[in-house]
Amino acid sequence: MVSPATDITPPYSSLLTEKKGLFGLSREELLELVVGLKQPPYRARQIFQYMYARGGTSFQHLSSLPLALRKELDQKFCIARAAVVSKEVSSDGTRKWLLQFADGARAETVYIPEEDRGTLCLSSQVGCTLNCRFCHTGTQLFVRNLSASEILQQVACARDALDDWQKPDKRTISNIVMMGMGEPLYNFEQVAAALTIMMDAEAFCFSRKKITLSTAGVVPNIPLVGERLGVQLAISLHASDDKLRDTLVPLNRKYPLAELMQACRAYPRLKNAERITFEYVMLEGVNDSLQQAQELVRLIRGIPAKVNLIPFNPWPEAPYRCSPLARMRDFAAVVQKAGYAAPLRKPRGCDIMAACGQLRTASVRLPKGVGLEKRREPRSYETQACS
Ligand code: SAH
Repeated sequence: MVSPATDITPPYSSLLTEKKGLFGLSREELLELVVGLKQPPYRARQIFQYMYARGGTSFQHLSSLPLALRKELDQKFCIARAAVVSKEVSSDGTRKWLLQFADGARAETVYIPEEDRGTLCLSSQVGCTLNCRFCHTGTQLFVRNLSASEILQQVACARDALDDWQKPDKRTISNIVMMGMGEPLYNFEQVAAALTIMMDAEAFCFSRKKITLSTAGVVPNIPLVGERLGVQLAISLHASDDKLRDTLVPLNRKYPLAELMQACRAYPRLKNAERITFEYVMLEGVNDSLQQAQELVRLIRGIPAKVNLIPFNPWPEAPYRCSPLARMRDFAAVVQKAGYAAPLRKPRGCDIMAACGQLRTASVRLPKGVGLEKRREPRSYETQACS
């Protein structure tokens, strides 16, 4: 069910003011800011914890600061959150929020509850440049990168909606996946800044082991994920030969399989007994033969890995169908026989178009100088249930 959030009220209204938003600033940036206000450095830490660990949105309530400073902060700055334009809840409990940022651009964020965890799926871009043939986001075209602040705002909005602040022992959101709209490694600096704050023990405090970044294979940035972030790496493989991968994942023409696999083999974290996850979408008659399963195994041989088989999630006018269940199981058996875990991912949130590769918003790229009001388009597509 879609519930439109009719009252776009504060803190959203603060997005429309001239005040500088502090949400998304790093420790260092906050330090610079408080020093500029002639305040002692420890004030930066207080603001940092207030915004990211407690979910505070008003300096008025930051009671550990002197009143005069609270007033000054309130006059000059704000703690902006995206507006929740709509929220949908799937019959399986998955939730999807359509968020609108200060310039009107919109992105989707999904929460997937499971028995032993709750996973939040974040977008890194509005739209996507990659145009993978089976992915709905690819039909939207690229609008813009999200800032670190906007990536973190997605976590904050979800924590608000799920009442998930200050519950360190029993968190609703236990895991983060960068698997929403966009290619995170084409927005690496902003994604890295956001993840750094997500992992900070005095901020969102997610362990690096509970965060997964998925890439279609932007080879030059793959080592950076291991070196600078240490989060879990997932590679959207989907095909084991260049000819097929060139069509399914056009990025393969730029970074072909040999280069991608070389980057995986050299991935810094593998030395620490960690694994790479390879994602493989199951497309009937396209990449699901048992011979292709053998080729997949040959391709990844020697790499500590797990293979996530993803049933294809449909969307309007998609040119593919999902492989039959029996075929997916046989495919998985071949991969497992070679010694790799090969779970078949259970589709979640299909009835609200919240499953892998179904996200899309109506945002379009506007020529420079076109104002906010032009961005407020209605959603231009219909929800379609999984078969
Ligand atoms: N750009 C990144 C992250 C976004 S998508 C990447 O490519 O990894 C997250 C995963 O969903 C990717 O593995 C993607 O290939 C997969 N996916 C895209 N469309 C899908 C669909 N219709 N059905 C199932 N999985 C899909």
